[in-house]
Amino acid sequence: MDIPSENATADAVRVYVDPEKLKNYPTVDTWYANSPAFDKKTLNGQLFDEIFRGGRNIISFERVRVTVKKKEKCSSITCSCCRKPIPDYLMEGDRCGACGSMKYYERI
Ligand SMILES: [Zn+2]
Repeated sequence: MDIPSENATADAVRVYVDPEKLKNYPTVDTWYANSPAFDKKTLNGQLFDEIFRGGRNIISFERVRVTVKKKEKCSSITCSCCRKPIPDYLMEGDRCGACGSMKYYERI
């Protein structure tokens, strides 16, 4: 559940792929470690089989405390490039980040 926090921190649960548990799933282990031993051409099917067989058995969780940044009040500004409404604090001059420094594509 995503409840806004009034505090500077919030208790949460971190879920992660557990390297210790991957020892029982050697193909997933080599793939997850980005090992050269994982051959995508021959082991992809085996990888999927192990992932489905492993399911939740390859993950662990722990209780954690995270820092919560209070949501800033903002107003909406239209990006001069893509014309999308963007929160003012995400603007880079007259452009949004996706049209500015965080641009990762170009229209074709
Ligand atoms: Zn834009």
